[in-house]
Amino acid sequence: MTGKLVIGNWKMNGRLAANLALIDALRADAAVQAAQVAVAPPFAYLGQAAALLAGSNIALAAQDVSAFDKDGAYTGEVSAAMLADVGCRYVLIGHSERRQYFAEDHALLARKLQAAVAAGLIPVYCVGETLAEREADAYKAVIAEQLAVLGALAGRDYVVAYEPVWAIGTGKVASVEQIDDVHQYIRATLLQCHGASDSIRVLYGGSVKADNADAIFSLQSVGGALVGGASLDVESFGRICQAA
Ligand code: PEP
Repeated sequence: MTGKLVIGNWKMNGRLAANLALIDALRADAAVQAAQVAVAPPFAYLGQAAALLAGSNIALAAQDVSAFDKDGAYTGEVSAAMLADVGCRYVLIGHSERRQYFAEDHALLARKLQAAVAAGLIPVYCVGETLAEREADAYKAVIAEQLAVLGALAGRDYVVAYEPVWAIGTGKVASVEQIDDVHQYIRATLLQCHGASDSIRVLYGGSVKADNADAIFSLQSVGGALVGGASLDVESFGRICQAA
């Protein structure tokens, strides 16, 4: 796996005019142009973003996907086939905000993963422990349980993002030792699960900023970053891409 992948998760932010300005600026940024990069706008703006990103090196990602794999009477849902149809390459699955606010459990996430790979999307499967789980020294058990659903994805192209919940949007970044420890653990678990893990990228996410990206990317176990807040600011995102 060469180079680091940087994915910007816009979360529930954006408007037509702001997205246009942001994507224009990203397209003009030399560091972004030189990086392996994707952005994940809200569903409502995927079509707009796909048109604005056409011909660029910036891939499109969705923030979620329906577990239902056939079109039909599922009001409010967006299928993996629809995401592929509008030009998405990646889809985030199991982000801690989805687990926390929408009660997404392992069974549902397993279905979303299957739906995504069946449509040719690359899932970016998010795992990570809460502060209480970290303090109780239960984080590896929690992550192992979250990773278990990946057993069904042997031989498929997917990405894992380690995002300690206590570091997301809090400004508290995990230390390089903590990141390396968990990334090594994830890699060992995937190796045990699939018999190989070299081709699986493991991203770090949780308050990645311009001033900590160099240290995080210096770890060989880190295959890139999932960036929330800093992905809305071109200068910060560009500097993270530069570090990548
Ligand atoms: C995220 O939402 O995936 C994330 C890592 O957010 P932030 O970078 O803002 O902590």
